[in-house]
Amino acid sequence: MNATAAIRADQSEPIELDALVIGTGVAGLYQLHQLRQAGLKVMAVDTASDVGGTWYWNRYPGAKFDSESYIYQYLFDEDLYKDWTWSERFPGQPEIERWMHYITDRLDLRKDIRFSTTITDAHYYENRGRWMVRSNQGDVFDTQFLIGCTGMLSAPLENRFAGQDSFRGRIFHTARWPKEGVELEGKRVGVIGIGATGIQVIQTIADKVGHLKVFIRTPQYVLPMKNPRFGPEDVEAYKARFTELKQSLPHTFTGFEYDFEHRWADLTPEQRREVLEECHSNGSLKLWLASFAEMFFDEAVSEEVSEFVREKMRERLKDPKLIEMLVPTSYGFGTARVPLETNYLEVYHRDNVEPVSVKDNPIAEVVPEGIRLEDGTLHELDVIILATGFDAGSGALSRINIRGRGGRSLREDWARDIRTTLGMQVHGYPNLFMTGAPLAPSAALCNMTTCLQQQTEWITDCIKFVCENGRSAVEPTAEMEEAWVRHHDETANANLISKTNSWYVGANIEGKPRRVLSYTGGVGTYRQKCLEVAKSGYAGFALQ
Ligand code: NAP
Repeated sequence: MNATAAIRADQSEPIELDALVIGTGVAGLYQLHQLRQAGLKVMAVDTASDVGGTWYWNRYPGAKFDSESYIYQYLFDEDLYKDWTWSERFPGQPEIERWMHYITDRLDLRKDIRFSTTITDAHYYENRGRWMVRSNQGDVFDTQFLIGCTGMLSAPLENRFAGQDSFRGRIFHTARWPKEGVELEGKRVGVIGIGATGIQVIQTIADKVGHLKVFIRTPQYVLPMKNPRFGPEDVEAYKARFTELKQSLPHTFTGFEYDFEHRWADLTPEQRREVLEECHSNGSLKLWLASFAEMFFDEAVSEEVSEFVREKMRERLKDPKLIEMLVPTSYGFGTARVPLETNYLEVYHRDNVEPVSVKDNPIAEVVPEGIRLEDGTLHELDVIILATGFDAGSGALSRINIRGRGGRSLREDWARDIRTTLGMQVHGYPNLFMTGAPLAPSAALCNMTTCLQQQTEWITDCIKFVCENGRSAVEPTAEMEEAWVRHHDETANANLISKTNSWYVGANIEGKPRRVLSYTGGVGTYRQKCLEVAKSGYAGFALQ
């Protein structure tokens, strides 16, 4: 199809751009800023009515950081970092959303953002080397570069059960929680899901609702969070670490401030126990991300560390029935995302909280009165909260009709096999970039801001390289993509994450091609590999 003819048929005046960024979360905001600084004509669009991405959408009760606030930060500007003050180690969504507004205003980004605008189609026209991008508002963007900063966990699984529309009460997915809040006081509430999200919801609403039923299928390892409020001295101390954090975070295995320091084989059982205890009492993800790397590779170590965590959970749960329902035994600690919690396990001792096992008696459907299980049991409810997760990694971009060279469809390609090069480009889709996408480190084993800053910076450098060298398009070769996919798979398949069913491998969606979605070779290693590609003048990428 001729691009100009297609636009005329739509009668929309195309907006000519050098780059269009989809999404205004952590990645999108920084990407917009960088490309503007580079002198490109760039705009960003977002479905939401304001900035924030994940932190705009996930306003459910109890939503908060699992990364320490002082590392979940932009580190490209010291003043920007130091002029914002966090109130606690793991703040909640309202404070995080305020921080994202602060970033947006300080960088004066709003004037180049179009809100309440969802990109529906993006077609690459080879003869022009440009993308034609359409929105649900009738906009047409004619852009050389298209960057999907659409989020790793942003395509919610909202329609999970038959009969949802028939429910007489109110039903919400956690990532579509209404801005005005939901009245839960005294209500009969059902929560489906005990991932990182469900746990935060459950521990927050248990003492506010009338009666809470938690529908539990797969037990989940949890770690207790310690969340001290920051006084002036704490704030001064973390701000004084700016340079150290800027230098160290990009090079650790997970982009966090801590790293794996001990080797399991070098320590006695007593010394191992000491390390595990120290990490556990840190009240953070340290036990998972900085105790013993061997837990990801060695079944015996995995079992010992898992048993340590189980023991901690059993001590708090006491009741054998609860222990059976809530303490995992069929997979290893840390092979699926580990949530932090505050008095979450104790919630199940409350009189108004009832765990409902749906492992052997699954949810059959939602009916007007509530939730009906397969054996016919009816749980009557006023509110249903779907903490049922996301179509991770590939979901957000697959929901857009993206057509690359020769009309090939990203949705169809990824429905067969989820592949990328460095998680930032896909063969067959020139000038399309992405962040938080499959086969790059993100969400799993990565502090998101560390990874997203590095990815957006790499993309900016690549775009600058194309422009400065008088080229019009860049795309990974088929060989380069194959090499990256092979390296990714070899790394991923060597660890136990690949064996556990969770969203990490796409197992939460029937029919989704199974592949560890995040790169598991380490944030520092990945960064190094990306740098080498750039230094080589983008070897393995075709430049037109
Ligand atoms: P999730 O980890 O995918 O958990 C979804 C939950 O819903 C699971 O417990 C799942 O059970 C359950 N579920 C789904 N379908 C079900 C069904 N038909 N019947 C019964 N149960 C069902 O999703 P999430 O909790 O939203 O978390 C996703 C990711 O978001 C996290 O892993 C994390 O990376 C991120 N997150 C981060 C933060 C933070 O940093 N503060 C907070 C929240 C979330 P099964 O396990 O049996 O499938």
